Amino acid sequence: MYNDQSRRCALSLCCVHRLRLPATDISKMVEVKEAAPVAGEPKLSKSREANWPAVLFFIHIHLLSLYGTYLLLFEVKMMTLLFFILLTSVALLGMTTGAHRLWAHQTYQASTGLKIMLMLFQTLAGVGSIYDWVKYHRFHHAHFATDVDPYDYNQGFINSHLVTRLRKLSPHQEKLMQSIDMSDLEKDSVVMFQKKLYWVLYAIIFVLLPLNAPLEYWDDSILCSAFVIGFLRYLVVLHGSWLIESAISVWGLKPGEKSPPDSNAIFILTKSFWPHYHYLVPYDYKSGEYGTYDSGCSTAFIRVWAALGLATKLRTVETASIQKALADAARTKKDLKTCIDAAVNNQQLPEEHYLNRA
Ligand SMILES: [Zn+2]
Repeated sequence: MYNDQSRRCALSLCCVHRLRLPATDISKMVEVKEAAPVAGEPKLSKSREANWPAVLFFIHIHLLSLYGTYLLLFEVKMMTLLFFILLTSVALLGMTTGAHRLWAHQTYQASTGLKIMLMLFQTLAGVGSIYDWVKYHRFHHAHFATDVDPYDYNQGFINSHLVTRLRKLSPHQEKLMQSIDMSDLEKDSVVMFQKKLYWVLYAIIFVLLPLNAPLEYWDDSILCSAFVIGFLRYLVVLHGSWLIESAISVWGLKPGEKSPPDSNAIFILTKSFWPHYHYLVPYDYKSGEYGTYDSGCSTAFIRVWAALGLATKLRTVETASIQKALADAARTKKDLKTCIDAAVNNQQLPEEHYLNRA
């Protein structure tokens, strides 16, 4: 687990302790904006009712996908298998590089052509419009690790990954959701176009075209098309998309865990345990959704688009900036997140840095 970088950073960590860094409890690192109760206003219920249509849908799609898995292993033509992999990968790319890194956190800017492509890819995920997904995701970040967070990782992986999807938001959560700022997306014509025509796009791009292809172009059976390209693909993409919010339970520190010895500041220095790093610095384009930092397909694709001039203004945090922010936080006793944001605003990338290329 500990490579050279980790060892170097562990040494840095000792320095941080000497600097008496303020406590780095993760829940305290993330800005939580909860509206103060207004005097005289009735207290809204925090209980969440079951969403029965969602319960039935999830039971059925899991059962139908079992048969899809059998067909995938023993029946489908090779072209259908490749098509399944392609559609799943493209949909998840739309979620990670599009809905998450571009639209939810603005880790980079994209040309209109790239935005349209990512919007179509995200439609292939079938998880609702970009606008709605981003609203939930920003709500999750704003109330991270509190009982308001619908994907609260303190309640365990099963809850944050699956059970929460089977419940409606509480009236209390619905009210708080209204304060999520979506003004940037409301000015984005690609996002608003998809929002307006979401169910038409869903029917054509997510359902009709993929289901038709195996029948039309390589003569596979209706069963293989419906159960593999239909139900099983949907199930895999759903779980991949849900992991964006629940991955912290898989690859992050466990609730209450102090690792290594008595501080979790190590994840800032090593940029490991990425989910915690992501909740502190959500605008770093290198933060992977599935347990990686500065590697993985999504990061590679963003770099390729940057090289082609389709993606610009990629935002990241240099290790030196993180170290400066830690020192500033220790010296001034200011909030660590404020210090990181200030250090990032002042950081100068080296002139030869590839992100500086015109
Ligand atoms: Zn995020």
